[in-house]
Amino acid sequence: MPAMPEHTPSPSSADVLIVGAGPAGLALGAALSDIGLSCLLLEQQPRAALEDPAEDGREIALTHRARAVMEQLGLWSRLDAADIAPLNQARVVDGSSPLVLHFGQDRAARTGEPLGWLVPNHLIRRAAWQAAVLRPGVQVLTDARVTAIERDPQAAHVTLADGRRLSARLLVAADSRFSSTRRMAGIGAAMHDFGRSVVVGRVQHTQPHGGVAWECFRYGNTLALLPMNNDQSSAVVTVGADRVAEWLALSDGEFAARIQAQSDGRLGSLQAVGPRHHYPLVGVYAQRFVAPRFALIGDAAVGMHPVTAHGWNFGLYGVEVLARELAANRQRGADPGDLAPLMRYESEHRRTTLPVWAGTNAIVTLFTDERTVPRLARRAVLALAEHAPGLSQLVKAGIERQLTGRAGAATRA
Ligand SMILES: Cc1cc2nc3c(=O)[nH]c(=O)nc-3n(C[C@H](O)[C@H](O)[C@H](O)COP(=O)(O)OP(=O)(O)OC[C@H]3O[C@@H](n4cnc5c(N)ncnc54)[C@H](O)[C@@H]3O)c2cc1C
Repeated sequence: MPAMPEHTPSPSSADVLIVGAGPAGLALGAALSDIGLSCLLLEQQPRAALEDPAEDGREIALTHRARAVMEQLGLWSRLDAADIAPLNQARVVDGSSPLVLHFGQDRAARTGEPLGWLVPNHLIRRAAWQAAVLRPGVQVLTDARVTAIERDPQAAHVTLADGRRLSARLLVAADSRFSSTRRMAGIGAAMHDFGRSVVVGRVQHTQPHGGVAWECFRYGNTLALLPMNNDQSSAVVTVGADRVAEWLALSDGEFAARIQAQSDGRLGSLQAVGPRHHYPLVGVYAQRFVAPRFALIGDAAVGMHPVTAHGWNFGLYGVEVLARELAANRQRGADPGDLAPLMRYESEHRRTTLPVWAGTNAIVTLFTDERTVPRLARRAVLALAEHAPGLSQLVKAGIERQLTGRAGAATRA
């Protein structure tokens, strides 16, 4: 790939310092540049890891709202159409129960559009990098680990591991769910450690998936199958953290055989494709998203359990809202570090994310508890959600709004 034109860091003059050039930090950099604020991103990884990120096994389900933000920021047009898979329906099954809970069953016929789309995470990261570094207002300093921060009434200051000190009027932490910058700012976070991990790997299958995502709550582990292009699916297995090594050590044939058995052969005969990856499952919710001259964005604000596929979607919603508030503030000629627009961002982003974060944790806890009473409870929940007159439509419509990102649209209008 030819070298891309970009802007060499001259680290003293930016309006905003962003810690972390993951997808959230890069998207925020692009959005702030578009409203006329200059940004300097500080990233501990080397440049090559950002320019051409390695495949990481995460297949990201995107909502309609997330796609719209990606289009606006020029990320979507940088994705190859062949790498975007439509997500038409989602189905949930529990244990050996024949009951299936359906979402989006007749959606394509009703609306002509899918529930959402699936795109590999490393391609989103690459698109975010390309879109950010071409903007005149964005500079990126790589191999730059932030080790300390300070704030005073005039500015926020960071110190890098090599001793350099940088300042700006606003500091934004986009440095992952285990954000050390959040901690250095004195902001705590609720952490829900599920004691489990996901092992992810692709499988090729002989039967078409029809764009259907399956969530199979089995006893001992949970399996999600996410539809990708070319008759492939991403298998996402949730296992006790003590069983990760066992799942990673399986041969390709053993892995495919386990997935085939746990999915009841729905996709025909399976073959494993490519490497497997694993991630610990810890949900994180920051106690505050902002402080004077300081804000959190992306997973540093809200780190979701992946089962409801909302982490990056929420990251983009946060970027949209924070950029909108800072744009209005800038039009008034005010300081970008002012607390009032930051508080408005916090309030809206909390309203959008907190119910889903708490609801996701409750669902995961109920659906992975193997004792008899929770098993009976979740069968009752599935039966009611699928069949109870009135309630079924209400629950499904609500969950469909969340899956498409259209919940709370009225408050954003
Ligand atoms: C298995 C799995 C499946 C998922 N599926 C979905 C899905 O379907 N839909 C969805 O919306 N989301 C999904 N997600 C969530 C999504 O991947 C994350 O929300 C998103 O990648 C977070 O981006 P981020 O930029 O906030 O953080 P990160 O990607 O973690 O980036 C943080 C960056 O900060 C840098 N950094 C950290 N500390 C410092 C420091 N001190 N100094 C400088 N730099 C620093 C890091 O090097 C890194 O580059 C999934 C996650 C997993 C694990």
